[in-house]
Amino acid sequence: MATAADVAFLDNALAQLEGARRWTPRTISKLEALIHSDDPWAVYRVDPITFAAEKGITEQEAIDLFLHATHQGLFHMEWRLLCPQCTDTVSSCKTMSTVTSRCYCQLCQNSVDVHLDEFIAVSFNLSPRVRELLWHHPESLNVEDLMLRYRIDRRATMPGMGPFSEMMRQLILFSEYLQPGQTTELAVDVPPEWALVVFEAAGARTLFYATDSAPAREQSINASLTPESWQASHSTALPGKVVLKLTNDTAQRAPVIVYTRPNDGADSGVQMGPFLNGNRLLSNQTFRNLFRAETLAAGEGVGVRDLTLLFTDLKGSTEMYERVGDLSAFALVQQHFEHLRRAVQEQEGAVVKTIGDAVMASFTRPEQAVKAALAMFREIEQFNTQRGTRDLILKVGAHRGHTIAVTLNDRLDYFGQTVNIASRVQNAAHADEFCITEEVFSEPQVQQALAGKDATREMAQLKGIAALVPIRRVSVV
Ligand SMILES: [Zn+2]
Repeated sequence: MATAADVAFLDNALAQLEGARRWTPRTISKLEALIHSDDPWAVYRVDPITFAAEKGITEQEAIDLFLHATHQGLFHMEWRLLCPQCTDTVSSCKTMSTVTSRCYCQLCQNSVDVHLDEFIAVSFNLSPRVRELLWHHPESLNVEDLMLRYRIDRRATMPGMGPFSEMMRQLILFSEYLQPGQTTELAVDVPPEWALVVFEAAGARTLFYATDSAPAREQSINASLTPESWQASHSTALPGKVVLKLTNDTAQRAPVIVYTRPNDGADSGVQMGPFLNGNRLLSNQTFRNLFRAETLAAGEGVGVRDLTLLFTDLKGSTEMYERVGDLSAFALVQQHFEHLRRAVQEQEGAVVKTIGDAVMASFTRPEQAVKAALAMFREIEQFNTQRGTRDLILKVGAHRGHTIAVTLNDRLDYFGQTVNIASRVQNAAHADEFCITEEVFSEPQVQQALAGKDATREMAQLKGIAALVPIRRVSVV
């Protein structure tokens, strides 16, 4: 039962949320309906991208909605590393500071390289402050729910076969808590070229046997669960009947699951629909504004496969400072940052930082960067026209590629050659010019965005880069 204080907390948070920004009509009531859903699992690991599709709002607005709702204490953010093969949660973190760049999936017995734009899912759990639900206390779940609803993502599907959790349900032969010191015995039949998996669902301690096509034989395997791992009497198994004797040699109750699956992986090829990934969040201005304390662990870089970085600068700013004086110049530069920020945000990008008179911004799609650049030139031109003088003259550059997300000076930043090239391409731009690399230009949607504009190709010598780099020079006036 919700107490009066709980109701007041929720009402107050929703009112704050309402005023946090301009929302499309009924957006907040759609969230409120979700919060009051009869299904307790509906508010577990909510994915904003899925929510957007179901409720008919834009993805960007849905992401903003859950970020602001989290900021108001209605939800908690969860960063999960999903195994690309089976989508099991390999690791789960409350903040991104514990995200690491390499992991091991116990279910697939497979090493996983982590990229922020692939299998780092960011989802939202309803706070127990709003409603206390069964999954807030995973130890209260039965083992099957712990595995199939708490661990496995409900959006994971096997192509042509439906939800992955339902398929797993068919494969599970045993799912029970083993009390400390308890031993259980069960007989399972393992077909040739199938794997036998004993999985402890809280700590992901796994015992894994892949059988070959040898003739079937009956065998006994004793295995004991220790705090670190399973200690088993056999390191290999043959196809046929296996009598498993499992003992819990830890001081804690252990949720144990036994299942068999084909060697080639009943779980390989599991697919997830689109979901909010870490890369998209890092390029979200609301995230950067509301969650400044969210950073990656010092010294821990996490790869991003595909990011477009944009740099701007002001042409002749030294002369401008000379002309209008430091104070006026400072005010002008700040105002110009506001225009650039708006252009970046409207294209779903984020300002990573400002460096002197320059801005560095990130986008998950190259055409967003290009549209933002064009909007920047329009905005600044308008600003100049209003002031009746062309004090501000922009030069912009963009490049697309692989990069590494890092924390520098307590801020989420990017590192690597893609960053260097993006900055140097900006240097190659003259006044009122926008220079992009072929990596950006080759995207068809970029060419659409630049339709009607000259995009002259040239080989540019960029500072610090040995080879000539093909770039496109786009004149915007
Ligand atoms: Zn896996």
